[in-house]
Amino acid sequence: MSGFNAQFEDENVDGTFGDGPSGRHSSENYLPASMENVAAAALQPLRDAVVKTEQLGDEDDRRFRRDLDDILYDVHHGMTPHSAGRAVHKLDGAIDGWFRRRRARLRERDRELTGVISSMGQALKDLQGDDAGFHDGLDAHLERVTSAADSVQVRSVSARINRIVEAAKRQAVEQKAASEKKVRQMSELMQGLVEQLHETQAALEIDALTGLYNRGSFDQRLAQELNKCRLAPYNFSLIMIDLDKFKSVNDDYGHVGGDRVLKACANALQAVVMRTTDFCARYGGEEMAIILSDTRAEQAIKVAEAVRARMMAEPIQTGSALHTQTASLGVAEGCDTDSADDLIHRADSCLYLAKQNGRNQVVAAGVGLGRRIPLPDALL
Ligand code: GH3
Ligand code: MG
Ligand code: MG
Repeated sequence: MSGFNAQFEDENVDGTFGDGPSGRHSSENYLPASMENVAAAALQPLRDAVVKTEQLGDEDDRRFRRDLDDILYDVHHGMTPHSAGRAVHKLDGAIDGWFRRRRARLRERDRELTGVISSMGQALKDLQGDDAGFHDGLDAHLERVTSAADSVQVRSVSARINRIVEAAKRQAVEQKAASEKKVRQMSELMQGLVEQLHETQAALEIDALTGLYNRGSFDQRLAQELNKCRLAPYNFSLIMIDLDKFKSVNDDYGHVGGDRVLKACANALQAVVMRTTDFCARYGGEEMAIILSDTRAEQAIKVAEAVRARMMAEPIQTGSALHTQTASLGVAEGCDTDSADDLIHRADSCLYLAKQNGRNQVVAAGVGLGRRIPLPDALL
């Protein structure tokens, strides 16, 4: 092996290049060591995540963590065919079960937090309402007492009453400041809860492979945007993306290589679509979608072009080859008379036209090639 190759193969150990530990290294000592590294690197983060959730006291999680510890011990001290068989037996079904329990817990937490936040919100509103009423009333009463005292002819009596009123006013101001502080503290507490709620919701909404939003949250977001259109003059656009010839990516590089390409394409999307109001989702398989808030089709076409260019500009390392992935994109603008299906169908038809016309291109409804896909009446 030449010096250059030796260096290249070293790089392969960290998973950056190549097809893993499958027989590229001829040294007998090296192969098991690298397999153990791979096994430990895969299992250790899972074990750490299990430790975090088992603090909630689930017996199944504790058992799963003990099993993982046993397997990691074997991994670090050298696997035998027997211990490898035992590890497979222990992991079979246990990982699925753990993820299922985790999602159920997140859902439960989501429900609880939503309940707490809405009752706290109500209490806060009541408190603010009572407080404002009480202090406004008190101010008015004190004003009346002061002017009544001023109209009293005997000066010493008026002065005494004024002093009492001044003291009462001072006390009222202090009370008001104290209760405002309480309201502020409660608001801050609520803000913290709302953030926690968002975090749990995010954990339920993200697609595990790509890190994009999942199909469920895409449907929700699309419904929200369409509702905005129906309530007020408002424009937004949908971009549907389908990776080109992805079956042959899997054929050429295997499913793991295909997954890596998918992830890199998702990263390209997120690198281009950076406004916090925009939304990138995995629609299913190798299809992705972008919802651009407050955006007309002309602008959406530019974004789609930028996504297409970005994907092409960054070849992806799959095995020992560099792969350039292209995509076809369909763009359609939403309007008040659209249902979600109408809009998706329009963007999909554009996507289909882009495929027919040679792939690696953007087609928009009512523009260029997409003139065959009409804009809805509400936009004309
Ligand atoms: P076209 O240009 O017409 O879209 O060709 P295509 O090969 O991409 O055709 P099609 O959309 O029908 O095929 C999608 C392929 O994507 C089929 C499926 O095996 C693959 N795929 C879907 N989801 C995943 C995934 O999560 N990982 C991997 N590696 N492949 C996936
Ligand atoms: Mg497809
Ligand atoms: Mg495809």
